[in-house]
Amino acid sequence: MSAETHRATILIVDDTPINLRVIVESLEGQGYQIVVATRGEEALKRANYVQPDLILLDVMMPDLNGFEICRRLKAQPITRDIPVIFMTSLASVDDKVTGFSVGAIDYVTKPLHVEEVRARVDTHLNLRAMQKELEERTEQLTTANEELEAFAYSVSHDLRAPLRAINGFAQILKDRCGANLSPEGHECLRKVQVASKRMDVLIQDLLTYARTGRGSVRAIPVPLRSLIQELECTFGDRLVATKARFEVAQPLATPLGDPTLIEQILMNLLDNALKYRRPGIAPELKLSATAMDEQVLIKLADNGIGMPAEYQDKIFQVFQRLHHEHEYPGTGIGLAIVSKAARAMGGEVTVESSPGQGSTFSVRLPAALMTEHSTA
Ligand code: ADP
Repeated sequence: MSAETHRATILIVDDTPINLRVIVESLEGQGYQIVVATRGEEALKRANYVQPDLILLDVMMPDLNGFEICRRLKAQPITRDIPVIFMTSLASVDDKVTGFSVGAIDYVTKPLHVEEVRARVDTHLNLRAMQKELEERTEQLTTANEELEAFAYSVSHDLRAPLRAINGFAQILKDRCGANLSPEGHECLRKVQVASKRMDVLIQDLLTYARTGRGSVRAIPVPLRSLIQELECTFGDRLVATKARFEVAQPLATPLGDPTLIEQILMNLLDNALKYRRPGIAPELKLSATAMDEQVLIKLADNGIGMPAEYQDKIFQVFQRLHHEHEYPGTGIGLAIVSKAARAMGGEVTVESSPGQGSTFSVRLPAALMTEHSTA
């Protein structure tokens, strides 16, 4: 028994409590505080006032029967979560079923056996204590998470104004006083502008990350064909410039999700597949969406630089990059956005990759009950 349960209060509701003397003494001997009520209305008042940790409730009462008392306890927010154990001499199946249906957690049959009652009381008090702790932790975590997101959002937002000023004044300095600046002065000014632009990109990506999945996330069928056609347009110049081959396997299964988030996911994955290509080798990209077990598996495979196995989890965290800025530009936020967006829709993203051979990113999402067939 935990220290918590030693101080616990138990309300015993029975019209002939004298019959329970042995049980009361035994539970008091265990360190529990015992409160007794002999009538239904009195039991409800005491439960409200004392807020016991557990209630032992007799079924047969002169005014309200035990089932009605339990029903009323479960209807009030203040007493709803208090575990109720029925004490019944009617060991009929019907009674037990009714007891559970009105919200009881367990029952003991009369004549009561001290050891059995003690064991059940201990078990349910321990369970209740653990449940309470879990609820408190969940609430703390939810609050902390919300605070952190709100903080990240406002910091990112407020940082952009001074940054615009830095960039703007650097430009004015260059335009109005450029003639008086030495080559070293010009180089310093250029570095100020490059750094402030990079910081602006970082802040914008952080803002996108903080916003992803905030507010309501839709869960509607998202036909992928038109979405992919738009992406082919957006990435058209880069696909041509890199001589990429972009293959879309047919038919395309339809995921259930938020179109904006799915677009964000595909944009980031496609952007990376084109960016992390092997020098001198044209990108070969294969996109597919297949339905399996009420889910849709969207896969984007590339023949790029790949990555070692030990980094394949890390890259989904914010700011995790495997390359230097001058090798491959980026902020290290894209895949964190992909992962957050997938989770917001009840899905997940993973990667399989071999260095020097390529990577395959897999996004698992809930499925809509339809598949698109190419009309081309
Ligand atoms: P960024 O591209 O801005 O660095 P991401 O979060 O999109 O940020 O990616 C994190 C890291 O994962 C990248 O820096 C890169 O090292 C690695 N990565 C992402 N996509 C690929 C890919 N298709 N092939 C190889 N490496 C990749």
